Amino acid sequence: MMQAIGTRTVPFNKPSLVGRENEYLAETLAAGHYSGDGPFTRQCHRLLEEELGVGRALLTTSCTHALEMAALLLQIQPGDEVIFPSFTFVSTVNAFVLRGARPVFVDVRADTLNLDETLIEARITDRTRAIVPVHYAGVGCEMDAIMALARARGIAVVEDNAHGLYGRYRGQWLGTFGALATLSFHETKNFSCGEGGALLINDPDHVPRAEVIREKGTNRSRFFRGEVDKYSWIDVGSSYLPSELLAAVLYGQLEARTVVQSNRQRLWETYQRALAPWAERVGARLPVVPEHCEQAYHMFYVLMPSLEGRQALIGHLKARGILSVFHYLPLHLSDMGRRMGGRPGDCPRTEDASDRLLRLPFYTLMNPEDQNFVIESMLEFPA
Ligand SMILES: *Cc1c(COP(=O)(O)O)cnc(C)c1O
Repeated sequence: MMQAIGTRTVPFNKPSLVGRENEYLAETLAAGHYSGDGPFTRQCHRLLEEELGVGRALLTTSCTHALEMAALLLQIQPGDEVIFPSFTFVSTVNAFVLRGARPVFVDVRADTLNLDETLIEARITDRTRAIVPVHYAGVGCEMDAIMALARARGIAVVEDNAHGLYGRYRGQWLGTFGALATLSFHETKNFSCGEGGALLINDPDHVPRAEVIREKGTNRSRFFRGEVDKYSWIDVGSSYLPSELLAAVLYGQLEARTVVQSNRQRLWETYQRALAPWAERVGARLPVVPEHCEQAYHMFYVLMPSLEGRQALIGHLKARGILSVFHYLPLHLSDMGRRMGGRPGDCPRTEDASDRLLRLPFYTLMNPEDQNFVIESMLEFPA
């Protein structure tokens, strides 16, 4: 155990109560309707649909499950190929591998660490069924190029928008480009109910089957709307709808979105302003947000000059009671990725970013003293 210098500790993440979560949770408990698709679930759906302008939003038990629904909706079959960045969370890919897909890993851009749109075309074959861009850190991928390519080849786009709710690309909300998009409401994301997610459906053809897949393969959603007089098993499916208790907490969070996003913007800009001269001095790089992207303020990271520098900075911060974390271990180099043919050098920018990236403590209700302490500690590095 390393002895902390001083008594302050700064966690990497802390869940933040920002609105009426407690009240809505108590209301739901008192009302006695805990299973899914009650009033708060419907309010979450309406809020997302109206604000983002998506045809249908469906809450799910996680972003992982929303991605699994996307793979089921696209009827991904064994042997189909799907294009992903290797620089992402495991679920982006696993949801499709579960259906037998072969992942094709494409490297990221050096600036945003998003899927490099110029490398996609060369990896498309007649088996390519989908492209899954991830809006890393809530900064949009180059959707004009990706959508044009997908349209020309008749390939579906599924946006993994776990980081990017309320981010925009050329003025358009992230999550509204692909036929399907997914959101995460995990504790570490901007809006949270502990574990949760959503599927955003932009192609209306997917709506009827999505409702069935989410409800154990039954047409219960139509039954609840009075459109059929009984419900039965009509397709494959699973149980992807969250409890109303979670939807109540989530609605409290989503209702407070202006406060959440403006707090996060202020914290992000404070880090950037304070650390820019330091980054120049130590040869680190701060996040790049292109002019035409409005980011979602999901995280703040630094790219250190080397793996050794990154590890030294983690230790330096830890000695001061500050928890910083790195990610992602490139998926093509994981045990599973290697079994599917991944080799070192396949995605050089991904491998490089994975070695050098460090995420600083960043959460909605981070207080200014804690942030100042992190900044001062950064400015003392190297000690
Ligand atoms: C968090 C995350 C997920 C998974 O979200 P869960 O809601 O925990 O399933 C998927 N993709 C990305 C890029 C994520 O960051």
